[in-house]
Amino acid sequence: MPASSLQDVLVDLLRAGRLGHAYLVSHSEQDSAERDVRVAVQALLCTQRSPQGSACGQCDSCLQVLSGNHPGLTWVDPDGASVKVAQMRSAQGSDRLRSAGGQLQVFVVSRAERLTLEAGNAILKWVEEPGPDRLFLLMTAALQGVLPTLRSRCMTLRLAAASTTGIADALATKLGQERFVQACASMVELTAAALARRVDAWQVVGRTVAKLRLTGEEALQFVDAWMALQGDVVQVLFHGQAQTGLCELTDLQKLTHGVGAEQVAEFALLLAEQRRRLLSHVNVQASFEAMLIGMASQGEGQAER
Ligand SMILES: [Zn+2]
Repeated sequence: MPASSLQDVLVDLLRAGRLGHAYLVSHSEQDSAERDVRVAVQALLCTQRSPQGSACGQCDSCLQVLSGNHPGLTWVDPDGASVKVAQMRSAQGSDRLRSAGGQLQVFVVSRAERLTLEAGNAILKWVEEPGPDRLFLLMTAALQGVLPTLRSRCMTLRLAAASTTGIADALATKLGQERFVQACASMVELTAAALARRVDAWQVVGRTVAKLRLTGEEALQFVDAWMALQGDVVQVLFHGQAQTGLCELTDLQKLTHGVGAEQVAEFALLLAEQRRRLLSHVNVQASFEAMLIGMASQGEGQAER
């Protein structure tokens, strides 16, 4: 959102009586996005908002938001690797105890792409038809990782340029520069193998990924970045350019050589599906390796057809 901040957009909608009940806040950097969301929520809940739409920072409501115990704000972070169904049921349970309307109740899920399939399904109806004066803000840096049924029930707001650069930076910080470079190379080769349906390549590269010894959390970030890379592939395919910190433009151009948009979309969907499965496993690390093997054999099936 280059022109106006998330706060401006939401406060304007609230004042105009047009505030929707569910937004996907798409961003590229978690910490700054969380700050933006908190500032916006504070302004929405403030009892002495300025004419410009900012929070006063002094009223009871503002102080409660700052201290993290505002009764109208429920903020859900992942519990371990994923946002679990029990967490969402508990949030929904507390919602039932609240006032029927009159005061805005805000529910934030800080990493919507981390909702397990079960957790996402559990809140579909709630998000679609919440009580009056309810607002869902589902944050994500990996839009394609959010359950499509949930995505379709939300309006999407993009914070600044939701680019892959933020995802690349996050992965680099997590892995350290040397492993990051290896991870990116593996990602590119895996994508090339998948798009060309070269099963042998999958197996070779699968082993190089295994050598990275990614922890569960690292594996999830790897898959997030890998999904973002698919977005770059599409950009290159249609516009001949992409802004990425994951691989060189020349590598991307090689990836798209002789490949159709349909193939890329198909693979992106497969990746998103696999990622969701990954979230529902307790041992993400082990299931990540199983996922790579599984995807290779799926590729085999396609190649035979
Ligand atoms: Zn205030």
